[in-house]
Amino acid sequence: MGDLMISKRSQMLPASPIRKLIPYSDEAENKGIHVYHLNIGQPDLETPEIYFNRIRSFSGVDAYTNSAGLMELREKFAEYYKKWGIPFERDEIIVTEGGSESALFAIATVADPGDEIIVIEPFYANYKAFAAILNVKLVPVTSHAENGYDMPPISDFERVLTSKTKAILFPNPGNPTGTVYSPERLSEIVNFAARHELYVISDEVYREITFDGLKAHSIMEFGHYDNLIVIDSLSKRFNACGARIGAFATKNETIFKNVLKMAMMRLSPNRLSQYGAIGFFELNDSYYKTMVKEYQKRRDIVYEELSRIPEIVISKPQGAFYFAAKIPVDNAEEFVKWMLTDFSVNAKTTMVAPLSGFYVTPNSGKDEIRIAYVLKEKELREACQILGLGIRAYKSERKSSKV
Ligand SMILES: *Cc1c(COP(=O)(O)O)cnc(C)c1O
Repeated sequence: MGDLMISKRSQMLPASPIRKLIPYSDEAENKGIHVYHLNIGQPDLETPEIYFNRIRSFSGVDAYTNSAGLMELREKFAEYYKKWGIPFERDEIIVTEGGSESALFAIATVADPGDEIIVIEPFYANYKAFAAILNVKLVPVTSHAENGYDMPPISDFERVLTSKTKAILFPNPGNPTGTVYSPERLSEIVNFAARHELYVISDEVYREITFDGLKAHSIMEFGHYDNLIVIDSLSKRFNACGARIGAFATKNETIFKNVLKMAMMRLSPNRLSQYGAIGFFELNDSYYKTMVKEYQKRRDIVYEELSRIPEIVISKPQGAFYFAAKIPVDNAEEFVKWMLTDFSVNAKTTMVAPLSGFYVTPNSGKDEIRIAYVLKEKELREACQILGLGIRAYKSERKSSKV
């Protein structure tokens, strides 16, 4: 038995930086402490009823669907994109098991083992696992809390370019940053990619969730279609993370054909979810408006509460449902653990995500956290207040232990 080996690939696979702290919150909860979970990006809003109604009325055979997804759902996606001015046709869209599978397919199609993909850190942490399982190297350019994690200048991308660079991958609006890139920056990055024969893989799962009247621009607005891949998902915009319905879309026929083979390899996305998901496309603008209003209200609450914390570095995010913040501690991961093991206010504490796992550069993001505002107003405010009290208490405890 002792000689049985497992692959380096699986050994190198990073555990989720968020999920690995769950034992600490379980322990706190076992002690009777109520933990406010601002650590996981899972919306708390209800999934629209139409999804369940459609699934309930299903009968017949729960067979495989076409590997590219139900024709009707692909058509709905295409109509939806048209409304956004995004020129995808039905036959340029593959239904995937969430944005996750779409991202995996995208990386697998553009990069071979040893190839490089440029990411803008901090970035959606699961990209690391997708790249690791495919033996693709993620090469970071770094964005900074001080300017709202805006896209770094093109010169930063130029600096990390090698003969192995195949693509640039980023979420927009951003997770964990909530940053929405301007059309100018997006246009620059597309032109840069075209100039160097790279792909741009744009993860647009938060497309609708933007604030203050700002619009998120799709990468598809900037031409050079052959270079562009869009990752999409219904998880966040319809509060349907469990449905596992996403999309892979590109106008590049070669890419499409090759991704279709990957879709065939896993036979089919979940039929019932696809069937239910068709219903989401019947929701009108008021659905989105209500959702965005709710998130904007929450963002404002978090901003108001965090602003009271001395020495914190934040800017108001313009999209998604996250805040990334630089906090006055040396090691945010230790701080997050401490909040669960050593701190509570009236038997309540707050859990956030340390941001270091969202970077690839070693020792980066050590004093940063992500807050997902996935609680209702009153609880959210209290959770942020407890976080603020925790930061103060942690700092003074450290100070006194150093003396
Ligand atoms: C949540 C998320 C995904 C993946 O979501 P799925 O549930 O797999 O659709 C992909 N990208 C970003 C940026 C996310 O936040």
